[in-house]
Amino acid sequence: MLPSTEDLLNTPAARELLAETGRRRLTSLSRAAIDSIRHEISTGTRSEPRSYSKVDLLAKAEIQLKLLWASSRALRLRRVINATGVVIHTNLGRAPLSAEALQVVQEASGYCTVEYDIRSGKRGKRGAYVEDLISEITEAESALVVNNCAAAAFLLLVVLANGGEVIVSRGELVEIGGDFRVPDVLAQSGARLKEVGTTNRTKLSDYEQAISENTKAILRVHPSNYKIVGFTEKPSVVDLAGLSRRHGIVLYEDAGSGALVDLSQFGLDEPRIASSISDGADVVSFSGDKLLGGAQAGIIVGRKGLVEQIRKHPLYRALRASKLVYAILEATLESYLREDAMQQVPVLKMLAMSKEEITARAESVKERLLETLDAKGAGDVEIVAGESVIGGGAASGVQRETALIALKHSQKSAVEIEEGLRTAETPVISRIENDKVMIDLRTVSEDDEPELLEVISNVLR
Ligand SMILES: *Cc1c(COP(=O)(O)O)cnc(C)c1O
Repeated sequence: MLPSTEDLLNTPAARELLAETGRRRLTSLSRAAIDSIRHEISTGTRSEPRSYSKVDLLAKAEIQLKLLWASSRALRLRRVINATGVVIHTNLGRAPLSAEALQVVQEASGYCTVEYDIRSGKRGKRGAYVEDLISEITEAESALVVNNCAAAAFLLLVVLANGGEVIVSRGELVEIGGDFRVPDVLAQSGARLKEVGTTNRTKLSDYEQAISENTKAILRVHPSNYKIVGFTEKPSVVDLAGLSRRHGIVLYEDAGSGALVDLSQFGLDEPRIASSISDGADVVSFSGDKLLGGAQAGIIVGRKGLVEQIRKHPLYRALRASKLVYAILEATLESYLREDAMQQVPVLKMLAMSKEEITARAESVKERLLETLDAKGAGDVEIVAGESVIGGGAASGVQRETALIALKHSQKSAVEIEEGLRTAETPVISRIENDKVMIDLRTVSEDDEPELLEVISNVLR
């Protein structure tokens, strides 16, 4: 009695979906809808299959088809409101773009001069302008952009150390997350890992004793997502640079997040890339979408000879960045050079936001929220003190004081409220603490506040 795919395709429900899905997807979804009803019946989850008529089953299949389409659509890239307070949220796309970056992306999305020199009418050098901006900001001789920082690290190790040894402190053999593990990346690059020191203490003499004629480089990895505290020791970049120079080997620092400006006033002791360079690191790699606040990219800066060697390697061609990435980096880096990055680059703006500023915004959201909720409503809104984390492998352990909007409901659990927010038309991503749903406005732009308000009041009503 089950409908055929053809029957289902001819229903009003299917015809209505056709414009959105296209014929091909509609057919496969229709098959899947009928299969799932067949499965339910044959495994006995439908209590009385015989009570269904053909018409009944076709109606069920229409409903199932709509559900399948909706759940397939839910997997698209969707805009969300990040109310978690985690500024660099890897699962939510890390750095949001600045308004200027958006504009330049739009411009570059058509034909553009990514590898074309308008003056000569000939082929130009890919990324030349962005590389100049990076060199200017970091005071490095040369710069190069690849797909992400993991690619940068891999490429650097392949070019600098293939077949040789790379010395790494045991305190820095880390996993960054998402399968990026320093020992594994080293092994894949063809370099041999030479571990020195201990988890908590590694001395300059440990590095020195490990140097042999096979040593190609010393790798220093920034502890982006963990902290070793207490009885600890590690040599400075200046000392490691001196040692490397004496032995004719390369000092490479994987800075990970890497700040371009001093962020210590916000409690972040991330190394400034310019400091690593002036302290004597030969090459440094860092991400484009962490504290820099631009696009997913891996940036390599350092000595001209080394950077050019990397540029000529065939692997660079395989790992190069797209024109859209150059566009985003261009706009973002220009903002740093104009010294308005703290106001224009969203990641920095959010980091800089004071607790007082967030409290004032939270109070105003609370007031507007209470207005929309029924006076005798079951929803409850209060403001509590809390902390925002930086996230994204930047500034581990650093938290910024914030004000949280805490949501409760007399008939809904915190889990239900969180789910309601998350599954709204514009999903709002929040967190639960002490049985309350917490909204941190640090990561919500003011433009998104009206929408946030609407989603919350719909869930609390
Ligand atoms: C984040 C990070 C990486 C990986 O960077 P992606 O841009 O995500 O590829 C590598 N090394 C360190 C130290 C990091 O913090």
